[in-house]
Amino acid sequence: MSQQGYVAAPPYSQAQPGMGGYQGGFGAGPAQPLYGHYGGPPQTFNGPPTGMMKAPVSSAAGMPPPAAPSQYNPNVQQNGAHPQRYPPPAAPASYGQPLQSQYNNMAPAAPPPAQQLTNQMSTMNLGSYASGPMQSPPPPTNSVAQQPFQPAPPPAMGQPMMPPGPQSPHMSPIMSAPQSPQANMPMAGPPMAGPPMAGPPMAGPPMGGPPMSGMGRPFPAPLPPGPGGFQQPGPGPAGPTGYPQQAGQFGGHMAGPQPGMMGPQPGMMGPQPGAFPGSAGGLAGPPQKKLDPDSIPSTTQVIEDDQAKRGGQVYNTNIRGQVPPLVTTEFPIQDQGNASPRFIRCTTYSLPCTADLAKQCQVPLAAIIKPFASVPKNETPLYVVNHGETGPIRCNRCKAYMCPYMQFIDGGRRFQCGFCNCVNEVPAFYFQHLDHMGRRVDFYERPELSLGSYEFAATLDYCKNNKVQNPPAFLFMIDVSYNNVKSGLVKLICDELKTLLDNLPCEDGSESSAIKVGFVTYNKVLHFYNVKSALAQPQMMVVSDTAEMFVPLLDGFLVNYQESRAVIYNLLDQIPDMFAESNESETVFVPVIQAGVEAFKAAECSGKLFIFHSSMPTAEAPGKLKNRDDKKLVNTDKEKTLFQPQKGVYEQLSKECVAQGCCVDLFLFPSQYVDVATMADVPSHTGGSVYKYNNFQVETDGEHFLTDLRKDVQKSIGFDAIMRVRTSTGFRATEFFGAIHMNNTTDIEMAAVDCDKALTVEFKHDDTLSEETGAHMQCALLYTTINGQRRLRIHNLSLNCSLQLSELYKSCETDSLINFFAKSACRAILNQPLKNVREILVNQTAHMLSCYRKNCATPSAASQLILPDAMKVFPVYMNSLMKSAPLVGSTELSTDDRAHQRLSIMAMGVEDTQLLLYPRLTPLHNLDVGSEALPAPVRCSEERLSESGMFLLENGQSMFLWLGQASPPDIVQSLFNVPSLAHLQGNMSALPELDNPLSAKVRSIISGLMEKRPNSMKLQIVRQKDKPEMLFRQFLVEDKSLHGGASYMDFLCYVHREIRLLLT
Ligand SMILES: [Zn+2]
Repeated sequence: MSQQGYVAAPPYSQAQPGMGGYQGGFGAGPAQPLYGHYGGPPQTFNGPPTGMMKAPVSSAAGMPPPAAPSQYNPNVQQNGAHPQRYPPPAAPASYGQPLQSQYNNMAPAAPPPAQQLTNQMSTMNLGSYASGPMQSPPPPTNSVAQQPFQPAPPPAMGQPMMPPGPQSPHMSPIMSAPQSPQANMPMAGPPMAGPPMAGPPMAGPPMGGPPMSGMGRPFPAPLPPGPGGFQQPGPGPAGPTGYPQQAGQFGGHMAGPQPGMMGPQPGMMGPQPGAFPGSAGGLAGPPQKKLDPDSIPSTTQVIEDDQAKRGGQVYNTNIRGQVPPLVTTEFPIQDQGNASPRFIRCTTYSLPCTADLAKQCQVPLAAIIKPFASVPKNETPLYVVNHGETGPIRCNRCKAYMCPYMQFIDGGRRFQCGFCNCVNEVPAFYFQHLDHMGRRVDFYERPELSLGSYEFAATLDYCKNNKVQNPPAFLFMIDVSYNNVKSGLVKLICDELKTLLDNLPCEDGSESSAIKVGFVTYNKVLHFYNVKSALAQPQMMVVSDTAEMFVPLLDGFLVNYQESRAVIYNLLDQIPDMFAESNESETVFVPVIQAGVEAFKAAECSGKLFIFHSSMPTAEAPGKLKNRDDKKLVNTDKEKTLFQPQKGVYEQLSKECVAQGCCVDLFLFPSQYVDVATMADVPSHTGGSVYKYNNFQVETDGEHFLTDLRKDVQKSIGFDAIMRVRTSTGFRATEFFGAIHMNNTTDIEMAAVDCDKALTVEFKHDDTLSEETGAHMQCALLYTTINGQRRLRIHNLSLNCSLQLSELYKSCETDSLINFFAKSACRAILNQPLKNVREILVNQTAHMLSCYRKNCATPSAASQLILPDAMKVFPVYMNSLMKSAPLVGSTELSTDDRAHQRLSIMAMGVEDTQLLLYPRLTPLHNLDVGSEALPAPVRCSEERLSESGMFLLENGQSMFLWLGQASPPDIVQSLFNVPSLAHLQGNMSALPELDNPLSAKVRSIISGLMEKRPNSMKLQIVRQKDKPEMLFRQFLVEDKSLHGGASYMDFLCYVHREIRLLLT
């Protein structure tokens, strides 16, 4: 997909260089110690460190005022982006404004949440697209490969769920165009087939103009530069009601529900009056029949069907190009020569043989790699292979590691590389005879010959400076500024650490963790603590010169927790009191990270910083930030600047961290704008996570935060990692998305990589691929274990190659595709106006689907929407992506929340993006309390809610319990111990523990879901029609969005129309 100039990779080299050696020894710091007691005799501290602390009292005016609670939910973990390689901005200014506004006018003002079902549906009506009479569908065209996406019979209102799609693997949903007036056909309506849409306006010149030229253009291709694009004034902040002018194609600023899709339609059509003959009048026209939402492909149904068909069955990875079950399906995996889909998933398992075919279909070819994915207990952990002093056996030419794709020849004396075809000698110690099949007789004894994933013990050659590595360290760095102490956060953290540190991760089999720990507190100055086990009391040293950060002590700073436990305990007890009287509200930030890097340098180790921070760093020090939030930029060409980090010292710091293997995890507790785009920059390039708790309160958010902290500390993780993705001849990795850093075009550096971090790699052809040999990839990750051992983790995967595009479409995986699109879009918005990015997403969707239609589907009427079976719910995800916080362009959302979500998406795996973009909405009112099974989720639409119902919604980052107005009192009593909803306390963040089966069941469902997710979620309880319901409703992704964005139905209609245009 990416057409960006790819810089030819340097010749393959071993993976380990590139990591700089350790810098000069500790001690080269500033000559003048500017801190407290460094160098002097150790002093114990007792109580508040009066003399040592520089804690200027700041006036109350210096305190950040509490900010209004932001609308969008925080609590998002976040990670990195790679801003660099996106194309320069492009500004097709030609996409028409006039129509947009015209169209916008059609949109009803935001109806109140619950009673608007009818209203809302009426806007989805066919009539809103066309003024002409509705038509009924032609007889469905059935074929072996396709099944009509059969519309429900006309009076289908409220009819129960129809099987939304064809069931057989090859079948495609077809949407038929209705032909008789008044037909009640959902998708099929005139918008697709009817005269208004199909007529001259659509096919005519307007479409042939610039807008069309952009159709189907791959993401990164630069659009024609728009003159003065940056000057284009945005719509500015708009009031909460009505539909202001929309700047973007999709979304723009929309205060009310839904505009998104509606806007874009005219927008896309551009200078094309009459594209919407119906326009406003259409809405006012004859009474519209409601469309049947059950007739469009259903994500929940697809998930359910796959679970029913493939769930619970062992998935053997012995077949090349095999498409695994969906990421939502639970199934055990047996590694038989290809990496498990837990480690690698692909957008398609059958690559097109030629670049031309790839270009033709525009389906991105990408792999989503989660090198440290958790493996369930019932599956074998990775074997560690040791090839001895000479290190792992590799191909001499391309340096690929020994793997199942190496072909032994010449009686076992040589092997031919499956990646570059080079023939290599087998070292004497590794020689083995071949059996009659030409396979080594020790095939099953050697993981590297028979498995897709395994590890090699790395030799010193793979270690920094060729030295044995030290175990990594965890450094806890606590912001002790006024607010954090006052809110009780500091005490909460200190208390938690006492127990948490007993559970530091251990290598399997070890009794205690090898990880060293250290502690720093800070506000405008930094306090380092000596917690050497021999001390009776911890000692504090203050560094107030934050301009040139250094670490004032080495011995006793990073220690073994078990050995120093008493001193550490003592310290954690004292910290909250020490700063109880401090009025310092200003903080530094960059010096804190610098101190961590310096500490790791001095200790010659890698590790992770846990930084607990609450405010924008405004104290005079490197990395000082100013408030640059500006809602006026939303929906302008400058909106991207809101997502761009401040450069300079932050950029440099990321590099230093990566070189040292210093991962940064940031726990943010902001009460107002803190410039997350910049503050999260280092975490997002070092494999770190960013957690955000807006307006943190210990009582309601404490447990939520502590759960995140516990999970984070105990995650399985590798440090100081560098990864290379090798491919067989004919294609190669060209783009990389993740919480990573890249110094060159091939080496993916991660200061750390944990079990939840995934990177997405895009491939491009550089030659023709062979159907016979297929395509291989090998990810080799060199890292340091929590014990300090250097290892190579290898994941191999083989794919099919085909000259038939139908094979590609058959082997597609929607969840992986959407992961790719989410990441590439989230990177693109750093450099391009959001409307361009949204437009490219729509165009590519239409292009991919039209190519299928043209090349793979059985001929049928153009009015039918035909979707590849493997992609039949792709449009709902794409639409949801465009409505996601980073992409929607709404002034209603906080800039920090949008930046946070953007960064978290960059590091997500396939299951995370799936859930984020299609939340799980589970009805709980008909629970069978005796059953183990979870109730089946329903579609994310207001349609599915009911006044007497109770629903749980979660997307991996937010969780809501929604209660209908008419919730039965017995349910309310059982769950909340109050007689009615009116008695519910606001701001509840957990269900009370009540001794009844329903309460127990609901709580167990909630905790079960929480456990599965990388992040903890704060439970928000919302009553129908209460104000907080607005928060909940933005997750009903099939509906029109409160912040701008089309309903699924509208989007599908629109895409269908685009497809038809492409086919003509
Ligand atoms: Zn090779």
